[in-house]
Amino acid sequence: MSEVLKPDLCVIGAGAGGLSVAAIAASFGASVVLIERDRMGGECLHVGCVPSKALIGAGAVAQAMREAARFGLPQVDDPPIDMARVRAHVQGVIEAIAPNDSAERFTALGVRVIRAEARFTGPRKIVAGDAVVEARRFVIATGSRPAIPPIPGIDAVPYLTNETVFELTRRPERLIVVGGGPVGVELAQAYRRLGAEATVIEASRLLPREDPEMAAVIERALLKEGVDLRTGAKIERIEARGERIAALLRAGEGTETVEGSHLLVAAGRKLMTEGLGLDAAGIAFDDRGIVVDEGLRTTNRRVYAIGDCAGEGGGPHRSTHVANHHAGLVIRSALFRLPVRLRPTEIPRVVYTDPELAVVGMTEEEARGKRVSFRILRWPVAENDRAQAERRTAGHVKAIVTPRGAVLGCAIAAPHAGELIMPWSLAIARKLKVQDLAGLVVPYPTFSEVTKRTAVEFLKPSAQSPWVRRLLGLLRRLG
Ligand SMILES: Cc1cc2nc3c(=O)[nH]c(=O)nc-3n(C[C@H](O)[C@H](O)[C@H](O)COP(=O)(O)OP(=O)(O)OC[C@H]3O[C@@H](n4cnc5c(N)ncnc54)[C@H](O)[C@@H]3O)c2cc1C
Repeated sequence: MSEVLKPDLCVIGAGAGGLSVAAIAASFGASVVLIERDRMGGECLHVGCVPSKALIGAGAVAQAMREAARFGLPQVDDPPIDMARVRAHVQGVIEAIAPNDSAERFTALGVRVIRAEARFTGPRKIVAGDAVVEARRFVIATGSRPAIPPIPGIDAVPYLTNETVFELTRRPERLIVVGGGPVGVELAQAYRRLGAEATVIEASRLLPREDPEMAAVIERALLKEGVDLRTGAKIERIEARGERIAALLRAGEGTETVEGSHLLVAAGRKLMTEGLGLDAAGIAFDDRGIVVDEGLRTTNRRVYAIGDCAGEGGGPHRSTHVANHHAGLVIRSALFRLPVRLRPTEIPRVVYTDPELAVVGMTEEEARGKRVSFRILRWPVAENDRAQAERRTAGHVKAIVTPRGAVLGCAIAAPHAGELIMPWSLAIARKLKVQDLAGLVVPYPTFSEVTKRTAVEFLKPSAQSPWVRRLLGLLRRLG
């Protein structure tokens, strides 16, 4: 006999999005069923953000050892890296965070956790293992998996994805990375710093979704550290050559071959809609994900889709904080029946290379496309005293503002750019002006001063205006 559950909310998938919805709903006293077929914590905890940032952390330490002489300290040109121990470090970080996402914690919060695969059998019914769930509202948060591009020969060689690369216990001698997006560039730099040779192959340019001026900062940093970049290169074929893997490329008129010991595919995501019985529930989906409106409702009004699996209506970018933000909106809509609307321009995104690249709002190209008048404000990181003290001076800030000072967008290529983007996000979300940022008192010496200095650039023309000169003259005459 199946157990029939009738909660307020049924959440499918215990990754970043699903866990947030379940935790918030339970905190308001709603009855919640959370269904997960695999590991609690989903991609971010096990094969995404957490292991990648832990690996990047290890790479940063190795790089600091190589650059120690700049600080008058003993330098280690070729740090002896034991990949098995690096993997243990990565695993240790996952284990430290895992209790937050565990079934035990959610059960203690009052959530009924079911460890099984969920499938809709009707518009208001899900089957998961022995349970049948007939909830008032459903939230689909089933995430995504790595997409494998249809390159001839790829299935005949062993390849890594984000689901397997963090398990390596031996350093790849030469890693070929397919895809120059955020995941590809972050991992290429991390492995390079951990002593591997790394080649990134990208059909377009590096970080193709970002402003080319800002992506170029990351490109220079990678090249300086010896990452081999093959941009504008299409992989025509992949083949095994003994123990090695060869990628045959077409770049412009010519052909090239890149040989490596390992192949990492980081070429986009396949959204998880399979096996969910979406047709039975009247939920439309396409190859961009589950169709949602700007309030994240699917074509079945009782069902929402959030996180990576949500289609275009979920905004142009996918990440853990986007999934968390979706979760907050769904709580307001599903539990409190409030109108909600996703505002993608308020959501920042970050590439965790060194330097990092953080972006919020419009890029220069997007502002041009909207035909709004705008000014560009720039400020180099090299002008920041803290950056000089820490010898981390690569990068700059580029802000897009209207002639009256409304902030349309900002991109920061700098150390800690992911932290530095916050005042710009706040300015866009709360409609603060760049003059407000210019007026902030910022502690000295901090990297945050780059925000103030960028914003002060906006005021420079007014400081030089004849009116201001005349006013000063008048005040001078008054004594
Ligand atoms: C290498 C890498 C690094 C990343 N780094 C960052 C970063 O630094 N910052 C950031 O913000 N984002 C990062 N991301 C993106 C981030 O990991 C995802 O955007 C985020 O995990 C999506 O969360 P989600 O809840 O939508 O899906 P997921 O975390 O994928 O969770 C979906 C869950 O649903 C379960 N599920 C699927 N189908 C069913 C079913 N039928 N029944 C029951 N359960 C099911 C799955 O098992 C899974 O646990 C990174 C991604 C990768 C690959």
